[in-house]
Amino acid sequence: MSDKRLPGRVAVVIGGASGIGWASAQLMAEHGASVVIADIDGDHAAERAASLGAAARAQRVDVTDESSVEALFTSVSDDFGRCDVVLNCAGGSGIGLVADLDADVWRQTIDLCLTGAFLVVKHAARAMGDGGSIITIASLNARQPGAGFAAYCSAKAGVAMLTEVAALELGPKSIRVNAISPGLVETPLVAGITAVPTIQDDFTENIPLVRNGQPDDIAAAVLYLASEDSSWVTGEVLNVNGGGHLRRYPDI
Ligand code: NAD
Repeated sequence: MSDKRLPGRVAVVIGGASGIGWASAQLMAEHGASVVIADIDGDHAAERAASLGAAARAQRVDVTDESSVEALFTSVSDDFGRCDVVLNCAGGSGIGLVADLDADVWRQTIDLCLTGAFLVVKHAARAMGDGGSIITIASLNARQPGAGFAAYCSAKAGVAMLTEVAALELGPKSIRVNAISPGLVETPLVAGITAVPTIQDDFTENIPLVRNGQPDDIAAAVLYLASEDSSWVTGEVLNVNGGGHLRRYPDI
């Protein structure tokens, strides 16, 4: 008997060309899924899909543009006739203390992290029809404030609540919606933090398991939420952060 967790499933990974999304795309492909790697960096997505072989394909998408998100799911339905798993990893952050924060930086972060998540959940739900698993990526910062990250923390708190509301609404259609809240995971997104030893040490000291996360740590949780192993789990915001949510967020 195969121990693959996603045989015959179609998984769409948005923000799938890098970091957490790419690790998750690889793991889901290993577990038998056909994977669509969607990313604003279409060339990088195409390289990644090519490296996974015949079961993968790529598409450029911008989660801040509803027509682009809609087009992604239309082509998934046209190509595969089904959509079982959707993971949204597109995200990033503008930085600034509240009293100095430029309103455009605030809007860009909310647009990318929160409105982008909303557009993905909306069109994923339509594409799934009668069953599937939608996974959003929130953050430790959804529930733990970090100075300088007002826009990001606010957006990720919104992603956690969006996930819970969507789970409530979509449960009767057998569509599960869950979020993962990572702590510090070593990806290109946080290279500016991990490159500074004093800041890096401050982070690590505040993680009870005393190490940074790796993209594979998050991918393992994605696989659980994507598969039938979590068939009675919805509306969950899962901390995968070495216990970092139990301590304070370091000042940067
Ligand atoms: P990453 O930068 O390695 O990957 C993000 C991917 O999203 C990139 O490939 C990028 O091209 C793509 N992207 C950016 N804007 C996009 C858009 N508008 N439309 C489509 N794709 C877009 O980052 P990562 O660390 O893997 O982060 C993934 C998610 O995890 C993000 O939502 C981030 O906020 C969240 N997160 C990361 C950490 C961490 O420490 N790395 C911690 C908590 C939460």
